Amino acid sequence: MKNLFEESKRYIPGGVNSPVRAFGSVGGEPIFIDRGKGSKIYDVDGKEYIDYVCSWGPLIHGHADDDIITEVERVLKKGTTFGAPTVLELELAKKVVEMVPSIEMVRMVSSGTEAVMSAIRLARGYTGRDKIIKFEGCYHGHSDSLLVKAGSGALTFGQPSSPGVPADLAKHTLIADYNDLNSVKQLFINNKNQIACVIVEPVAGNMGVVLPEEGFLSGLRDLCSNEGALLIFDEVITGFRLAPGGAQEYFNVMPDITTLGKILGGGLPVGAYGGRKEIMEKISPLGPVYQAGTLSGNPLAMAAGIANLNKLNENFYYELRKKSQYLWNGFKNNCRELKLNYAFNEIESMSCMFFTERPVKSFKDALTSDTKKYAAFFHGMLKKGINLAPSQFEAMFVSAAHTNKDLDATIKAHYEVLKELT
Ligand code: PMP
Repeated sequence: MKNLFEESKRYIPGGVNSPVRAFGSVGGEPIFIDRGKGSKIYDVDGKEYIDYVCSWGPLIHGHADDDIITEVERVLKKGTTFGAPTVLELELAKKVVEMVPSIEMVRMVSSGTEAVMSAIRLARGYTGRDKIIKFEGCYHGHSDSLLVKAGSGALTFGQPSSPGVPADLAKHTLIADYNDLNSVKQLFINNKNQIACVIVEPVAGNMGVVLPEEGFLSGLRDLCSNEGALLIFDEVITGFRLAPGGAQEYFNVMPDITTLGKILGGGLPVGAYGGRKEIMEKISPLGPVYQAGTLSGNPLAMAAGIANLNKLNENFYYELRKKSQYLWNGFKNNCRELKLNYAFNEIESMSCMFFTERPVKSFKDALTSDTKKYAAFFHGMLKKGINLAPSQFEAMFVSAAHTNKDLDATIKAHYEVLKELT
């Protein structure tokens, strides 16, 4: 396995195609994955791991789900791309409109980054304004306007803003503090009639998991409505994870535009953005805001997405919640027993244990985590065959494929590793 990383580094920057995979903040070398099935992944040496990364969220049914694979295989034989409309695109679009309350029309793209980049352009085109407000520590993909004080890998590697983003563009991205409505109000006051949109992860998942405080999301809704700005919920993580209709259904706050990715594609590259008809009609070819993609609505990705969403029903979320609660409670009990007072944020099937005793309600709170301790915890868990995200500032995901046996093994490993560390 060692040689693979060394060799990869000769051909691929850092040996990886997405930075956090390189284990930069936890040290050591990444495992190379050979295959996955259900809750498990297997590295190229054949070692088995219970996986809670789930490809960073999409695999809500676990790895290589039989129903999804069957559909992808069926469609694969008919051709992989046409660059022309297919019934599959229509079917997935209808499904999204049916499931996500604020979406009346939806456009498919190929990644979360592309979805958010396009949504921002649409918001600017629709309002005729240039400035946008985002929150420090929220990650919305790596397009230029959004790689400013970002979370996820940008935060992990200590470069939340990237060289290569022109200052002339970055100056249009205004930064507010998550869970602090006043910081948003102030920006609106200082930039009267200039703000196109506020974009937010309704549950932050890229500074670790940080929940919106009571009134934060509805406060953003009111501010945007009063100021003639659009509210964008980036539901790339929360979409189809918190509820069939995502965070907007869960918290009952409706954005103007929603961005989706991850679970929508069932493990194949898909993103989407959608919203009210009157806004979406501004997109080309109906309207003047241009956005396109050769592989957009790719048949394999659509097939995987449809099969994936078809399996999400009330009972699915009930069962997933039960499993998640069992695991989260197991972790909390472990901490109590070991007299550790670490902040633990969880909602439905996503969670994050922060190595800090301060309750984590903001980006600043998240930064008080002891990332060295997280690194030791991460490696301890990995050694015991539990795969977690190789960074403190990411989420842990439970899938429907996790069994009770997996959960018990994970709770036991969590206890043992924390005990060793204290
Ligand atoms: N938005 C959010 C909230 C995300 O978590 C991510 C990726 N983790 C993105 C956008 C970008 O998605 P992608 O990596 O598919 O481009």
